[in-house]
Amino acid sequence: MAEGMVNPMPDLTWQEELGPRWVEVDLGALKHNYQEIRQRIGPGVKLLGVVKADAYGHGAVEVSRVLEEMGIDMLGVTNVAEGKQLRQAGITVPLLVFQPFSPDEIPCLAQFDLTATVASQEALSWLQQWLEKNGGTIKVHLKVETGMGRYGFWPKDVVAAAREIIAIPGLFLEGVYSHLAAAMWKNKSYSRTQFHLFQKVCADLEKAGIKGLIKHIANSAALVDLPEMSLDMVRVGTLLYGQYPSPHMGKILALKDTWCLKAKVVYLRQLPRGHTVGYGRAFKTRCPLRVAVLPVGFVDGVQLEPLFKPASFFDLLKGMAKLFLTYLGWDKFRSPVLFPGGTGRIIGKVGMQLTMVNVSGVKEIQVGTRACLPVRRTAIDSGIPKVYLEAGRIMTISRTISVSTKPELGRTE
Ligand SMILES: *Cc1c(COP(=O)(O)O)cnc(C)c1O
Repeated sequence: MAEGMVNPMPDLTWQEELGPRWVEVDLGALKHNYQEIRQRIGPGVKLLGVVKADAYGHGAVEVSRVLEEMGIDMLGVTNVAEGKQLRQAGITVPLLVFQPFSPDEIPCLAQFDLTATVASQEALSWLQQWLEKNGGTIKVHLKVETGMGRYGFWPKDVVAAAREIIAIPGLFLEGVYSHLAAAMWKNKSYSRTQFHLFQKVCADLEKAGIKGLIKHIANSAALVDLPEMSLDMVRVGTLLYGQYPSPHMGKILALKDTWCLKAKVVYLRQLPRGHTVGYGRAFKTRCPLRVAVLPVGFVDGVQLEPLFKPASFFDLLKGMAKLFLTYLGWDKFRSPVLFPGGTGRIIGKVGMQLTMVNVSGVKEIQVGTRACLPVRRTAIDSGIPKVYLEAGRIMTISRTISVSTKPELGRTE
């Protein structure tokens, strides 16, 4: 990673070196969001910043550096490889690895001082055997299954597991946690059930004389809607990056957007009425349109047409109505592309490396004009160059990321 970074970047040719598309990360916005979250949780509650999946597409190393400087208490990653990458980049704050580890990852946990999640009896015996043979210390948090259906000890088995951990020399039980499955829903009853199960486990641990553990269950959605679940620490990702986990949440924090995919117009022209656009002729002009071509597509990991996943029957009807209006020629529900001179709309199918945009209403547009595209951040190819800005100034540019540090597909959360 380090060899791919140039710092600082006052050089006039940086844009040419970047190519026609890049990601802009606003570190000032990240700092602002951090402070908003800190204020919300108040003193006495620790903050774990989630930097898994390359910090939700922002670049895990750069984001972790900023969060460490801001005073984050802990960082969370999905797997051991992600944790190792941060340690090798010089990050020193405690790092919690969420995913169950495999026996061959234990040396790495120990060497890089990564805090492991223990979710099974089997994992405990692996740790015990390794520590007996090699010595040293490993910190762990116990994971409790309260309703996610993914991994964790059943509540009834937690006290016994905790006792066992405490009895193993070199193993240090630091925390106990669980994960909410539906905190982003309006209906919070499932989350409350999960929380009560977790609280019961915490009470059982206290009764068994196991005290002083860091207890945590809250994610971004809980921090917004269920602050009573904050306990000793909250684990926050989505909010740090300026987004809310769901559209119907109260916008109680003044968050700033931290991320944007930028691309330069590579071609521009007028298409006559009745002309089709792109593969499968999925779009036909109903009047003459000015169309810009942008050099991004699905090969970049860009999924520009959001998947339509209705949450209810009413949602389904709404979605169908939108689709129908779009079919009739309404532009409003097409994905927006922001230009300095106005908003364009994506038309036709997104291609492998090219996307067409109706820019008829956009002022002062020409080849080379920069646009900001709506994409799912975590879906973006981590090889796309990233430009880090603060207060409008370029701080760092990261052009390469080694493939080995890219989280394995299907193993990230
Ligand atoms: C991803 C993750 C989080 C953060 O979730 P957000 O909704 O993005 O805040 C917290 N805890 C665990 C275990 C996670 O995997």
